[in-house]
This record gives sequence, C-alpha cells and structure tokens, in this order.
Amino acid sequence: MSLIDRIKQQILQDGYVTVAALMHQALYDLQDGYYQSKDPVGKDGDFITAPEISQLFGEAVGVWCLQQWQQLGSPDSFYLVELGPGRGTLMADVLRTVRVVPAFMKGASVHLIEVSMPLKSRQKQTLATYNIRWHESLESLPTDKPCIVIANEFLDALPVRQFQYTDAAWHERVVRMDNEQNMMFCQMDKTTHIGNAYLPEESAVDGNVLEICDAAHSLCVKLYKRLVEQTGAALFIDYGYVDNAYGDTLQAMKQHKHTAVFDTLGKADLTCQVNFGIIRHIAEQQGLHATLNSQRDFLLQFGIRERLATLYKNTHAEQQQALLVAYQRLTSPEKMGLLFKALSIASTH
Ligand code: SAH
Repeated sequence: MSLIDRIKQQILQDGYVTVAALMHQALYDLQDGYYQSKDPVGKDGDFITAPEISQLFGEAVGVWCLQQWQQLGSPDSFYLVELGPGRGTLMADVLRTVRVVPAFMKGASVHLIEVSMPLKSRQKQTLATYNIRWHESLESLPTDKPCIVIANEFLDALPVRQFQYTDAAWHERVVRMDNEQNMMFCQMDKTTHIGNAYLPEESAVDGNVLEICDAAHSLCVKLYKRLVEQTGAALFIDYGYVDNAYGDTLQAMKQHKHTAVFDTLGKADLTCQVNFGIIRHIAEQQGLHATLNSQRDFLLQFGIRERLATLYKNTHAEQQQALLVAYQRLTSPEKMGLLFKALSIASTH
C-alpha cells in the first residue's frame, strides 16, 4: 500500500492525524519516507543548501570549529559531530579547513548522525579518505568527551506541531478527510494550553497559527546536557525567526519549487522555519552561552570575505564570476543572508 493510502487509512481509523505525525511519516517512514527514497540535495534533487552553493560556507564553519576548540582549551581528544550531514560536503569542507591546525585533526573523532540510507552512502563517498562513524540518532554517540557539533538545515526537518486559535483557545491542527476522500487541514475540538514561553507578545486573534517543534526541543535538551557535562559547543544554521511569531510555515519543496503538501507526501521535502528564540532559551536555561546572528554576520565574522578574496585571486576568470554569485547568495540580505540564522552555543565563553 502506498504511503498516502496508509496515511488515509490511519485517518479513517483514528479520525485524524496531527500535522506533526503527518510530517513524521512523510519524512521518516522506513519504507517510503522522503529521506529513504533518494538523495534530495543538489541541482538534480529538490533543494540546494549553503554548503552545496560554495565551499566558502563550510570554510567559515571550519574556522568556527577551530575557535570553539581553542576556547575549550584545545582538548587532545574530542568528538566532531554533524547532525544531518546531507551529502557530506559541509564536513569535507570543514575537515579541509581545520587541517591547518594538526592538533585539532589529531584529536577529532568524526561522528555523523544520519537517518537516510541514500545520503549515508553519499557521505561515505564524499568522506572516503576519513575515518568516520555513523549513528542513527544522538543516543548512540559516546558521552565521555567534549564535543563540537554542527548542523545546517537539520532542525527545519524535524516534525512540528501546529495549533490554531479559535474562540479564545488553542486547538491542535490535524488532517482529516473531506467527503471526496481528500485530505484537508482541520483542528481538534479539544483545546490545548500553550505555555507563555511559546506565545508572541501580541495577543492572538482567530485564525492565528502557532508552531511548536517538540522534536527539536527534546533533541536540544539532550545535546545541551552533554555540552554542560562534558563541555563543548554546537552550531545550528537554518532558516527561521528569533521572536515567537504566529504563522503557518510548513512548506513542501520538489525540484526547487513549492508544491502542495498533500499531493507530494513522501516525494517532496517538508520543512518548517526554526524558532531560534526557543532553541536559544533552552540553552540559556542550562547555563550555556548562546550567540545568535544572521547567517550573513556569522559568515563575515568567520572570515568569508577574506577567503573569497584569496580564492578569487587564485581562480580562472570564468570561475571568478561564479564565486561572486555564490558569495552574494550566501550573504546578501535579499537572499539567504538574513532569513538564515546561526546560533552558536558553548559551555565556555
Ligand atoms: N546539512 C546538509 C543536509 C540538509 S538536509 C546540508 O546542509 O546540505 C537534512 C539532513 O538531515 C539530511 O541529511 C537528512 O537525511 C537529515 N535528517 C533529517 N532528519 C533527521 C533526523 N531526525 N536524524 C538524523 N538526520 C536527519
């Protein structure tokens, strides 16, 4: 039975599925989930990510890793971890950059957390010359050493719960079937209490939608505990917002175009914008230091402009233009520069 038919069957049986459950099944179903079906990243896939645009991105992240390692007291043994490494391009660029500090390379043991089989084999190819270990989740990563963790466009893939404000109360958004057996968004009759930490300052009006990513929060709590206990740092880069806000940000992308969520379940990438304010708040609650920047400011701070100048000088004229276009795409306020944020978290100042 196809993924869509199985979801419909579940709706018929239970009356509904929540938006989070729908997202979870569409992305992670072991048989037909989006991440099990193919390599979704790149020109021939459904979306392009920053490390695939240019090596400039991964090199700046590499400089961030070196700085964190130094601030941790240059530990001689630590875990360098990536969550959701895609094609392995970001880690390859990071490892090339950190080579300038041999003690970093010597101390690092590289661990990748990946659920997708097609992407894991892609990562194996990209990183063939390195000694890498893979995990399906953070749970199996050893806990005995400091860790430096990077994650680009990872949090946006985690299933989000949506709530809709109706008649002065919040109701979880769910998917039901209409008379023609088509899926449609609805809401539960039952109301849900939403904690103040999630609510925007301005009061809600009927129709407002609020998103809460429980999956991201519980992952962060686990990760942050390790950073506190064993010391370490984490970097989350993604598209998202800083202050709590209303809005339905669920989107499906297929072949670089937005598509309708229900038509392409399991066949298109499904993401929501990341609520960085909450991810930062959870870190601060654990006593960690958090710095939130736009992607643009982060990349500038970690030397993208200087690196651009060096590469520009050393490349052929026809590649110089491509380099400038990539730099613009990553940093310009109208492109990824402001919509994307970088949250850097550390156990030390
Ligand atoms: N970081 C890469 C890929 C981003 S796409 C880049 O910037 O190009 C999202 C990545 O996260 C994919 O590798 C996907 O397989 C992985 N992923 C999504 N959900 C995951 C989960 N719950 N646990 C581990 N990996 C996950």
